[in-house]
Amino acid sequence: MYEQRMVCRSCGKQLELGMRYACPVCGGILEIQYDYEAMKKDPRLLDDQIHTGMWKYSHMLPVKSGENIVTLGEGMTPLLRCERLEAEYGMDAELYIKAESLNPSGSFKDRPSSVGVSAAKELGAGRVVIASSGNASAAAAAYCARAGMECVVFIPESTDVSKVTQAAAYGATVIPVAGNYSRSYHMACECAKRFGWPNVTSTFINPYTVEADKTAAYEVWEQLERHMPDCVLIPIASGPLLVGMYKGFQELLTLGLAPADSKLPAMIGVQSEQCMPVTRAYLEHTSKVRGWDAPISTVAGGISDPLIGYEGDGELTLKTAVESGGCMTFLTETEILEAAKLVETKTGLYCEPTSATAVGAAGKLFAEGVIAPGAKIVSMLTGHGFKYSGRTSSVCRTVESMEDLAYLNP
Ligand SMILES: *Cc1c(COP(=O)(O)O)cnc(C)c1O
Ligand SMILES: [Zn+2]
Repeated sequence: MYEQRMVCRSCGKQLELGMRYACPVCGGILEIQYDYEAMKKDPRLLDDQIHTGMWKYSHMLPVKSGENIVTLGEGMTPLLRCERLEAEYGMDAELYIKAESLNPSGSFKDRPSSVGVSAAKELGAGRVVIASSGNASAAAAAYCARAGMECVVFIPESTDVSKVTQAAAYGATVIPVAGNYSRSYHMACECAKRFGWPNVTSTFINPYTVEADKTAAYEVWEQLERHMPDCVLIPIASGPLLVGMYKGFQELLTLGLAPADSKLPAMIGVQSEQCMPVTRAYLEHTSKVRGWDAPISTVAGGISDPLIGYEGDGELTLKTAVESGGCMTFLTETEILEAAKLVETKTGLYCEPTSATAVGAAGKLFAEGVIAPGAKIVSMLTGHGFKYSGRTSSVCRTVESMEDLAYLNP
């Protein structure tokens, strides 16, 4: 492994790697940095020739020993061109879906959880704690089961039953917390502080987990035959997937893997109208994000994060989206359900409504002229349809004989 260090994104303070959650000097967000100069000549940077899936990028990830890697085969998810959706949206552009729903526990959170639990194992922990809107806790629970570690999960009481059931099935201690996601977040932080359990919450608090998200960018680039997409759309809670993927694209340039004149993609974050602290700041032309204290009722539970008490996370995401030439946008509840239906009927991918926001927003922004004709568009389909139990099905009625099938051949 190449030399790595933790660096404060605000004041530049450098630290050794370790389970740290904030800069000891200024409280800023920590990031892991690498010795890119030393790495440049290594032909195996994007394929260690030992691991498969996401871990083929092990040289670019902050786990020292291969023995500590806890994996279930995450990553290397399909990137699917979706012509029927392009036609539906009237797009003369290339729309691709990155099917992160096909990760082992059914969401992209398997990436941060795999790295977070591996790092915790490397540091000798037997138990981790996590706060989650559902998918990250199911993922952390799965990787802990794999590693033989204990997992304590704090989730909002309103979390979809399918996600709660999944985390419990893997053997995690699942603790529902009254109120919104931010309340669960603070409980997990308090446990990490009092009891020393590594906190693998997948906001920006754990610098290891954020690193994992960049692997999705390497994959997209490889799957587009080593080309950058023009834009990437991502459903946003606090935004580590957006920030992590942008870092991944930047690293391809820094390391000389992508040609120096490659244009980095515009990163576009999508929230639900019911909970959009980051998009609100974008629309109000301010870099200051305010926590969302209005009541929330949304089908997009996976991105229902009010950011109360850690607004800085949203500010980092907003800054990254803007710097990349992208933006923040939102969908209404009706638009989210409509997008999920289109994804399912036009692509064959079963998705949780949260994840369809990235597809619906692609259609909307193309219609508004924000995304240009001819663009290569990647929408991150972050979660599986099995993660959402709020659906009303419209199956056909039960039949008794062939005569009842007459309606199929009018
Ligand atoms: C967690 C989650 C998100 C949001 O990701 P962040 O990187 O935390 O902003 C999006 N979609 C789904 C399905 C999720 O579970
Ligand atoms: Zn600092």
